[in-house]
Amino acid sequence: MNNKQSVALFDKAQHTIPGGVNSPVRAFKSVGGTPLFIKSAKGAYIIDEDDNEYVELINSWGPMILGHAHPVITSAVQEAVNNSLSFGAPTSKEIDIAELICDMVPSIEKVRMVNSGTEATMSAVRVARGYTGRNKMIKIEGCYHGHGDSFLIAAGSGAVTMGVPNSPGVTEGTAKDTLLAPYNDIEKIQQLVKENKNEIAALIIEPVPGNMGLVLPKDNYLQQLRDICTEEGIVLIFDEVMTGFRLAKGGAQEVFGVTPDMTTLGKIIGGGMPVGAYGGKKEIMDFVAPAGPVYQAGTLSGNPVAMAAGMNMLLHLNENPDVYTELAAKGEKLAKGIQSVLDKHNLPYKVTLLGSMICIFFTDQEVNNFADAQTTDTEKFGKFFHQMLANGVYLPPSQYESWFLSNALTEANLDHIIEAVDKSLEAIK
Ligand code: PMP
Repeated sequence: MNNKQSVALFDKAQHTIPGGVNSPVRAFKSVGGTPLFIKSAKGAYIIDEDDNEYVELINSWGPMILGHAHPVITSAVQEAVNNSLSFGAPTSKEIDIAELICDMVPSIEKVRMVNSGTEATMSAVRVARGYTGRNKMIKIEGCYHGHGDSFLIAAGSGAVTMGVPNSPGVTEGTAKDTLLAPYNDIEKIQQLVKENKNEIAALIIEPVPGNMGLVLPKDNYLQQLRDICTEEGIVLIFDEVMTGFRLAKGGAQEVFGVTPDMTTLGKIIGGGMPVGAYGGKKEIMDFVAPAGPVYQAGTLSGNPVAMAAGMNMLLHLNENPDVYTELAAKGEKLAKGIQSVLDKHNLPYKVTLLGSMICIFFTDQEVNNFADAQTTDTEKFGKFFHQMLANGVYLPPSQYESWFLSNALTEANLDHIIEAVDKSLEAIK
């Protein structure tokens, strides 16, 4: 594989951009080597500056659920830009998208648009604190909720990939208000609640964590969390930045039939444009300024071009539920194919699948939480990652990430990926 252009660009980028990238996981730090500098992408394929073409399982970390440069999204953006890029004043499109979100995710009665998943989670927790008059928050180890200070404690995704799950720069004062529990451990939650009676404002969780690899809830865990939060007056926040509009049009909360008080959204909601949102019960959301006293704002929030992209994405998903059936079938085929390859190579690695999210854990242990995820052989994963690239498949460059399928993947693409897994595992034996 020729990657001369990417090598030169990465070298050049080091001079003016910290680590050469604008978001850490992109740097290939945990898998080694040079990140690919991307020129363009279309459908299921991404093309780098050296004109190598890959079948793609990152999909911008989730947003490109329909594949790249889908006409439903690009046409909306092209039309919107002609009317100027930003007004900093309300538009009718913002009402349309708010109504559609409330319709697709019924637990959301009111919603505020922001510009990223990070803004959504930071704001949601602030509102929960304002609403309850309490300070503390429970966070689940290995979940990633963006880079807000109070979330960078036992954080997954890039934070764990870079070896800084607890980031310097987060004060002790902030950290002490974040209480930690392992995923799938209801007893630890009960203990924290008992020890911090009437002090916990919120419990924030990725209902299906995709930032420590992909981990699934067990034994009615989500409903048990719901029950505890209801009893204790704790605001239950589902961070569905990844899972929202991906696992189902109503997200993980629809799949598992558990209703949070608040939901944070991002990624798919912007169709690839920088968008996030948080919403929930009316009585909580009415605490947000200017309706209520909790301040939160944004110069570019509800940006007309971003809203046009997001609106068309959500409309398309709402009107074409077969997208989810097709994606689930593709996920199923891929997981089955990978499992049979693992069996053939006599490897005990674990495959986790839900809908269009999938991951292989390079461990022989069942993975039910962050500690289990950390038993993986990350060095082996790094080698596997580079073999997959050599075989034309672009995976997330970290063991602690989910792979995201797009509906642009064809049967032939899936066969190609399964064959690439086979060849790659053979090569790293
Ligand atoms: N929450 C979750 C569950 C995420 O996966 C992410 C990003 N991967 C975020 C929040 C932060 O979103 P953003 O990167 O847009 O700030």
